[in-house]
Amino acid sequence: MPPQTKSTILVVDPSASNRSLISECLAQLPDVKVVVAADGAQALAQFRTSPPSLVLMDIALHDTDGLSLAKSMRSWERTAECGGVAPWTPIVFLSSVMDEDVLAEGIIAGGDDFLYKPVSEVVLLAKVRAMLRIVAMQQEIHAAHQQIKALSLIDGLTNIPNRRHFDETLRAEWKRCSRLKTPLSIVIGDVDFFKQFNDIYGHQAGDECLKAVAGALNESLFRVEDIVARYGGEEFAAILPGTDASGAHAVAERMRSSARELCIPHRSGVDGMISCSFGIASIIPSCETPAPNLIQAADESLYLAKRNGRNQVRAFSS
Ligand code: GH3
Ligand code: MG
Ligand code: MG
Repeated sequence: MPPQTKSTILVVDPSASNRSLISECLAQLPDVKVVVAADGAQALAQFRTSPPSLVLMDIALHDTDGLSLAKSMRSWERTAECGGVAPWTPIVFLSSVMDEDVLAEGIIAGGDDFLYKPVSEVVLLAKVRAMLRIVAMQQEIHAAHQQIKALSLIDGLTNIPNRRHFDETLRAEWKRCSRLKTPLSIVIGDVDFFKQFNDIYGHQAGDECLKAVAGALNESLFRVEDIVARYGGEEFAAILPGTDASGAHAVAERMRSSARELCIPHRSGVDGMISCSFGIASIIPSCETPAPNLIQAADESLYLAKRNGRNQVRAFSS
């Protein structure tokens, strides 16, 4: 829900003259657009298709009553999750009868305030201003939440997905691939002789090297559904949904050569340059086999690549 520049107010009233009176009054507010509905069905349709910033609704409608309509709006909001947060639209009831019990029921049904008819212009405008102020604050909180959520999934040093992002994606892709009965591959990469790199060139240079390697690995993935994450220290892990062992081998080989093509000098590295070793594991996931087994298999392949001389790709064969 991006911050809106113009607030939309949905006025629900069975009387045409009331609708235009309220609309004229609200038109005095800056940056406000008024839309109207004559009954509950119209109001609910408008509420769902283009959610307003605020609803002003008469409690007595022809096809339903305001309390039921408010309940329907609230239950739609609960299902219309946007970016991990359920939206909330203030609902202000308008009523010609002053009744404490109805007021209490209205609040329980999901309303936020009550105004009694005939409504004074001053009071109506003041209440609407107050509600729109809360809406604006809610939008700011929502935007901040989105930003924090995005940051919590990105590795601070390398700017690629972090371990949490990897775990969440693997969980989701595992389910999706087991439903579709398509293969899923994991590639784990590890920078070779990186402890020595730090020892020779310093920790700062080590950090720069990790950033460059992360960028190169990231650019080696061509499909939108593929991700590579910083798995830990100098380890990276890629998830390749819908990719079998031979496809994963091709991707891992591309990752290996792109890290190598950075041509970062490393006196104690393979042929004097930074390199990475890669382990692959592939499976058609099912609910019975847990994802950690696949990671362990990729880890074992990586171990083979290390033992066999580094700067190479190895696949797990059981
Ligand atoms: P191998 O070829 O067997 O993988 O040897 P290695 O030296 O790369 O592996 P080892 O596990 O012995 O050392 C990993 C090193 O990575 C040690 C650690 O200080 C370094 N490292 C981990 N995270 C970071 C980081 O964020 N920045 C820097 N500069 N170094 C890191
Ligand atoms: Mg390591
Ligand atoms: Mg290493």
